Amino acid sequence: MGAMINRALVIVLGLIALVTITVAQGRQGRGQREPESPAPTIREYKPQSTLVVPAHPVPRAKFPAIDMHGHPPPLTSPDAVQSVVRAMDSLNLRIMVVTGNPGRIPRDQMLQDLQVLRGSPHKDRLAVFANIDFRNVGPGFGQKAAAQLEEDIKAGAVGLGEIMKDFGLTARKADGSRLALDDPELDPIWSTAARLNIPVMLHVGDPAPFWKPFDYSNERWLEMALFPNRRCPPERCPPFEQLIAERDRLFKKHAKTRFVAAHFGWQANDLGRLARLFDEMPNVYVETGAVLYELGRQPRAAHAFMVKYQDRVMFGKDSFAPDEYPYFWRTFETADEYFDYYRDYHAFWKLYGIALPDDVLKKLYFENALKIIPGLSRAGFPQ
Ligand SMILES: [Zn+2]
Repeated sequence: MGAMINRALVIVLGLIALVTITVAQGRQGRGQREPESPAPTIREYKPQSTLVVPAHPVPRAKFPAIDMHGHPPPLTSPDAVQSVVRAMDSLNLRIMVVTGNPGRIPRDQMLQDLQVLRGSPHKDRLAVFANIDFRNVGPGFGQKAAAQLEEDIKAGAVGLGEIMKDFGLTARKADGSRLALDDPELDPIWSTAARLNIPVMLHVGDPAPFWKPFDYSNERWLEMALFPNRRCPPERCPPFEQLIAERDRLFKKHAKTRFVAAHFGWQANDLGRLARLFDEMPNVYVETGAVLYELGRQPRAAHAFMVKYQDRVMFGKDSFAPDEYPYFWRTFETADEYFDYYRDYHAFWKLYGIALPDDVLKKLYFENALKIIPGLSRAGFPQ
């Protein structure tokens, strides 16, 4: 009896020793030695790079540029226009397309923007897109919205959008059901845009990581922690892939309508997939608003993509912050390495320049936008 207990004890002690050694080796193997000093938080750790390489800041775009995704402050007066134009001049931005003003009722503000611009010496420098309120879609909504769009284009708007992400995520029909992006009730809007020869700019969904578990393996952990309402758990949002599928069916069904998928269609982190979309749907374009951190972390793939699809990508910035535009110019124009990005909750990594050739840069900066948005003024651009 005593001998059996002793043997059992030896086996248990042996197992404990084995587990301890394995765990210790595992920790070492994964480099998980514990730091002697308290570890900084994700917000505190801001290492200064010691890399010494040539740096070529680009305060002004090499060619006059069109920001096709602009959200300037509301153009309430000639002074408001003047201050936006002054900022644009310093960046070599020739035209800003107003795709919505922050914090305003879209249609009222759009009509005011148009009215102020009509009497402005800078009316060539800003262009305005119309918008649609997708709340309470019921029978007849599409026809009515299409008629309103036609009126707004007559009043001077040159496109439709940015149709914001609530279309797809939260917009509900009058009967309480979710409004699908490809709901046939909306067909008259898209076909009217084709007939009027204007582009439609859609912001569908958000970065895919917002749909992933909110844990320390998530690339956008910080943003999801700072802005909890951007998280998209299944109980709150339709699946990411469902949104993409609805969007792509809409693009395909309205093959004569020019669609601009805002923010690279949130597929700048999967350029192979976006390439397949471009190959299948020649009526689809993208713009670069708020996705610089994706292009700048894959400089070789982004360069190849921007060269191959040079007729499909337009420059867009999204939020109006004049000191952020030069990061875009530097990324597009130079081959600089490992330089800072401007927003820590988009990306904890650095950027690399993708060094686009001049003919591609011109298309990105203005030629494509002039083609896709026929209502823009051509004044001030090289022939
Ligand atoms: Zn936007």
